[in-house]
Amino acid sequence: MKKGSEQIIEIKEKILNIIYPPICGICGKLNENFLCNKCKKHLETKAKFDIDKYKDKFFKQHLYIFEYQGMIRKVILDYKFNDKSYLYKTIVNFFIKNEKFFKILKSYDTIIPAPINKKRNKKRGYNQSYLLAKEIAKHTGVTLENNCLYKTKNIIEQSKLNKEERQKNIVGVYKLMHRRKIEQ
Ligand SMILES: [Zn+2]
Repeated sequence: MKKGSEQIIEIKEKILNIIYPPICGICGKLNENFLCNKCKKHLETKAKFDIDKYKDKFFKQHLYIFEYQGMIRKVILDYKFNDKSYLYKTIVNFFIKNEKFFKILKSYDTIIPAPINKKRNKKRGYNQSYLLAKEIAKHTGVTLENNCLYKTKNIIEQSKLNKEERQKNIVGVYKLMHRRKIEQ
């Protein structure tokens, strides 16, 4: 059975679809895929679809599509801070159409969204990472585990820090729960 919070999000989406029909997350024109062809083509000119590989036991690869600047930065800030929760559909729609990335995502057993603290979740009304993970899981068939990680403390927002500060800021912030769910 779905949790209350998930049901609320789904009901909220259905109501919003009636009041506000689906639009392209970039240009705002009506579009049932949340991304029109014109904007999709524009995004393709900016996309990198690169992979960084690491030798770390727990962190082996980092997939990334865009550089955090210009229009992309605006979309991400709108998604996180301007109550445009529907943008997860625009982002994932573009993301999973890349064959290379789609194949990599499908090869994983589990997808775990990064948790946010309760206060921020309440203020924003959604966990941006969870919505993205849920949509990716829906398209790839990978199992979504939403209760494996929890945040032990509030930290300075990562978006306000540079790369080195972000790395320091995040140490010891997440704890693993329900270890058995993801151990093999
Ligand atoms: Zn558009």
